[in-house]
Amino acid sequence: MNIRTQLTFRYIGIVLLVLLAMYFYLATMLKDSMSSHITSELEVQATLTREFLIEELPTKDNFTYDLIDPLVDKLGKANNARVTFIDLAGVVWGDTERDGQALREMDNHLTRPEVQDAIKKGSGIRDRYSNTTQTEFRYFALPIHSNADSEISGTLIGICRVALPMAAVNTAIDKLRQMALIASVAGLILVIVFSVFSTGAITKPIGKLTQVTQSLAAGNINSRVPVDSSNELGQLSHNFNLMADRIQEQIDTISEEHRRSETILKNMGEGVLLVNGASEITYANPTAISMLELPDDYIGKALIEINRIPELQALLKKAEQTETIAFAEIQLGNLREPEAEVTVVPVSAGQEYVIVIHDVTKERQLERIRADFVANVSHELRTPLTTIRGYAETLLGENSVRTKTGEQFIVKILNHSARLTSLVSDLLELSRLELGEVELKRSPCDLNTFHAPILDVFEPLLEESGLVLKWEVPEKFPRVNVDRQLFMQIFVNLIDNAIKYTPDGGAITVSAKIRSGEGTEGAEIGSEEILLRVEDTGIGIPMESQSRVFERFYRVDEGRAREMGGTGLGLAIAKHIVLSHNGRIWLESTLGQGSVFYIALPL
Ligand code: ADP
Repeated sequence: MNIRTQLTFRYIGIVLLVLLAMYFYLATMLKDSMSSHITSELEVQATLTREFLIEELPTKDNFTYDLIDPLVDKLGKANNARVTFIDLAGVVWGDTERDGQALREMDNHLTRPEVQDAIKKGSGIRDRYSNTTQTEFRYFALPIHSNADSEISGTLIGICRVALPMAAVNTAIDKLRQMALIASVAGLILVIVFSVFSTGAITKPIGKLTQVTQSLAAGNINSRVPVDSSNELGQLSHNFNLMADRIQEQIDTISEEHRRSETILKNMGEGVLLVNGASEITYANPTAISMLELPDDYIGKALIEINRIPELQALLKKAEQTETIAFAEIQLGNLREPEAEVTVVPVSAGQEYVIVIHDVTKERQLERIRADFVANVSHELRTPLTTIRGYAETLLGENSVRTKTGEQFIVKILNHSARLTSLVSDLLELSRLELGEVELKRSPCDLNTFHAPILDVFEPLLEESGLVLKWEVPEKFPRVNVDRQLFMQIFVNLIDNAIKYTPDGGAITVSAKIRSGEGTEGAEIGSEEILLRVEDTGIGIPMESQSRVFERFYRVDEGRAREMGGTGLGLAIAKHIVLSHNGRIWLESTLGQGSVFYIALPL
């Protein structure tokens, strides 16, 4: 049912209710007032009739029809009412409606309630249907006492009853009913006409609004409502149009952003894949499609069905479980040089995951070429260097250098070629570590067994520099599973630096402890690890250099470092050895106060 019909029905309901209420009110009013009018009329007429009859009537004993009925008829005619006289035995002696034989045959009226009331209470009133006249009457009866002149003065001799027809009341109410009916029909017609016009003003704009909302919902974003009034409906339409404008703007922005992201995703070198919580692919960019060789109908397929790379599944699972970003280098089976960095990022609380695949094959190749080149060059430089050193030593030993200057030159040649030799061997070692050519010979090592060999190497240097080495590794410290020789190299590099960059009178402390990872410094939460510290009271490393000292050839103070005889590769080598042991290395340092180098190894 539309609004117009609803409103029309409501109006009709209201009008009918009002008319009905008015009808009942008026009917009651009319009935009451007419009825009381009739009653008072009856009262007046009955009283007058009684007075008249008292005067005119003979005494009780000589009632005759001939005497009484004409009197009653006369009174009735005068009053335009029905008048009846009944004696105390209930015999009707006179009645306006009956004469002669008919009068004599009338029922005994003693049992009539109004007659009884008149005798007992002094007056009686009743509405009743009269069989005699076949109409409804209101009867009013009063007792009649004989007049004062008679010898039985004051004695009750009969009852006079006056009746007026009630037809007038009923006729009036019938008329009212007719009027009410006519008013209702007229009201209905008026209401229908009125509602057709008045509801049109409301329903028309609403109809238009409805049409436009349907059109909008169907995707016609340009649909707008015509605003042709300034009332509430006009405002509603205006506001609706504003809302539609805003939505359109937002859709435009989103579409633009979507287009932009699509272009970026389509043209980027990385493979991007979206999977839902059930690991089903919901999106893949062209790079991902070609990297993973996805079939045409990949959307909605489980990743594992399409591409069986266990590492990728494991990575996805890890991201699902930890709800954090998971990263790994994975060999993608169908890449020529199968190497890729894969990142899994959980989005919208585990409902979706973004998988980014970065093909690092070329980078790895280049790194390998560079490391190969460095390794080859270093290797090639070793033989000539040995020869140079050999000849220089021979020259010096054979005393064939006559002059002092010549001797100094040869010593310089020897020093520089020694530096070059250590540089070349450091470079070679670093390249081999980078190329993964160094095979780890792990064995359980007691850290305290490193103390003596370290002292052997550094004791003269420590004494010369006025430094002390404090060894604070607990006596019963768990053994660590490392390559002994390579680990010695770490100690040598760190302690050598500490000695070089700590002024006289300082101290170098080596200590170790076991700690459970708290997620700091990349440690996995809950796993136990060994934390090794090499601390000095030296010059410290400025903040901006702290992240860079592990790069090859990086030196904080180029001149000073060279003077100290360093190659700039010590920390880079230490870092690679630690990494090959699945450990982490980092430092904390305060300028002028000292540095602490930390090495964490999984236990
Ligand atoms: P180098 O052979 O020059 O010592 P490293 O790789 O061992 O090369 O160190 C890189 C640079 O880090 C050094 O040149 C020095 O500036 C800084 N460095 C290393 N260890 C320390 C330390 N204990 N105290 C201060 N500076 C240091």
